[in-house]
Amino acid sequence: MSESEAKALRIILLGPPGCGKGTHSAWISEDYGIPQISTGDILREAVAEGSDLGKDAQRYMDAGKLVPDEIILGLARERLAQPDVARGFILDGFPRTIPQADGLAEILEKLEQRLDHVIEITLDREELIRRITSRRVCPNCKAVYNLSFKPPEREGICDRCGARIVQREDDTRETVLQRLEVYERQTAPLIDYYRERGLLRVVRADEGYDATRAQIEGYLGGKTE
Ligand SMILES: [Zn+2]
Repeated sequence: MSESEAKALRIILLGPPGCGKGTHSAWISEDYGIPQISTGDILREAVAEGSDLGKDAQRYMDAGKLVPDEIILGLARERLAQPDVARGFILDGFPRTIPQADGLAEILEKLEQRLDHVIEITLDREELIRRITSRRVCPNCKAVYNLSFKPPEREGICDRCGARIVQREDDTRETVLQRLEVYERQTAPLIDYYRERGLLRVVRADEGYDATRAQIEGYLGGKTE
């Protein structure tokens, strides 16, 4: 099957911080040949490029405020119009709110595309806190590690590039509770939103990476050729 004939796969991954969204996005992206699109990455790219939307976003981030939905949606609209999403995408961390979900629906409608699956990854609160506070990232190549279940081979050193891995500022205990609270208030309503639209698939993350991955593969079906 040629690339243009392959069926597109458009997925949203939902779940609280620490549930493994980023990790699962990564293998889905690779196995199904679709880009992984996260709000964080889109924001960082726009800020680095110094685009108008990027500058707007920067002002909110500098003030320690949430970037408003209009700016996030503007960035998402630009990103989803790029050619590499022709075969689909996996959204990780977007949409985050009901207005963002409505905005996404509008963007996709204009592009004559539709969502295939919204996968919710669930995990108990205490386990989430433990996982987040043991997360480490490579500031150089962006590799993600977890001291609990995915440590680097050499302590404190990135397997891929040899840089020293660090804890992100928002992975510390003080901010974790705050982030979980924000998730419960803003993003949890999306679960019902997508359930009502018949798109929601629920996956439990407490049996470990392989079990979670197998459940997701069950929903997504065979890899595209
Ligand atoms: Zn690295």
